Amino acid sequence: MNIFGYTLQNLREYFVKINENPAKAAILYDGIYRRGLRDFRAYGFAERVVEHLESDFTFEIPKVIERRENESAAKLLLKLSDGELVETVLMRQRFGNCICVSTQIGCNMGCKFCQSGLMKRVRNLSPEEIVGQVLAISETFSCKINGISVMGIGEPFDNFDAVSNFCEIVSEDCGMAVGRRHITVSTCGIAPRIYDYADLSRSCSLAISLHAPNDALRSRLMPINRRYPIAEVMEAARYFSRKTHHRVALEYLMLKGINDSSEHARELAGLIGDDDFYVNLIPYNSTDNEFCKSEPDEISNFCGILKNNGVIATKRHEFGANLNAACGQLRADYLK
Ligand code: SAH
Repeated sequence: MNIFGYTLQNLREYFVKINENPAKAAILYDGIYRRGLRDFRAYGFAERVVEHLESDFTFEIPKVIERRENESAAKLLLKLSDGELVETVLMRQRFGNCICVSTQIGCNMGCKFCQSGLMKRVRNLSPEEIVGQVLAISETFSCKINGISVMGIGEPFDNFDAVSNFCEIVSEDCGMAVGRRHITVSTCGIAPRIYDYADLSRSCSLAISLHAPNDALRSRLMPINRRYPIAEVMEAARYFSRKTHHRVALEYLMLKGINDSSEHARELAGLIGDDDFYVNLIPYNSTDNEFCKSEPDEISNFCGILKNNGVIATKRHEFGANLNAACGQLRADYLK
């Protein structure tokens, strides 16, 4: 078994099962995630404990097969034990290092503008494969991780259990201890799972890929909207924000001539009303399809209208474009 898939609680149960003090779990977590110890003999445990650990666990991190880097971002293409490929991005921001992890091989959500959706889901990633992406980045670039976006390839709430275990593992205080407010899971809007996520005992932050202010347009761009229309998703988001006191981010991809008019901006402001949500405007990364990125003026105009209507809105900085690092592109290049 790969130890990186184990929550602290799982490890405590393991130690109880082998008749050892469960407090050893925290010692192990500290060594694995803070001191980078990859040898069970380095922990000062008794020989019989070392033997158990050695026969039950491995330390397996996905293999780096390609890396691209510029001043503000880096990207790794990783190979998993069955040969599948995933990509992981590191963004060096003013306030620290943020990683973007993938949760599935391919994706079944079929969003029209998204490259990942061109490759149907092959399988879900396991918790250890998602944790492994974080470790591959922090070891390759010898950096501390301050934030994690679960926004790479895949729909996290289509792989809910693995993603919730991942959140627990990386946020564990005696381990990597990434702050829960700095771990953001982004969903295309699978409403029932938003409730489940809100009900976790230790919930992280939430972002919703909205991308359109009305159902007619959103259903055209994102088929999931036919199943869970905007009103249901917004209701779930309100529940999340009441329950966790975390502010929800609404992500809005700016697509030229599609969803970026002044009218769309007013409609979006109306939709948000007094809710404690904020809007993150995302410049589109062009891929080979019919969509284009909005002009900078349109984005500024859109952002201005939201702000004039009392909505908190920011424009996302573009990191990956010149790395071809956006949303499935590196993997797509490689597979060509
Ligand atoms: N399935 C999840 C998380 C993965 S997608 C979700 O839908 O939120 C991460 C974000 O990238 C989403 O907001 C998605 O809509 C957006 N995205 C997809 N293709 C993009 C592109 N070419 N340029 C910029 N953002 C894109």
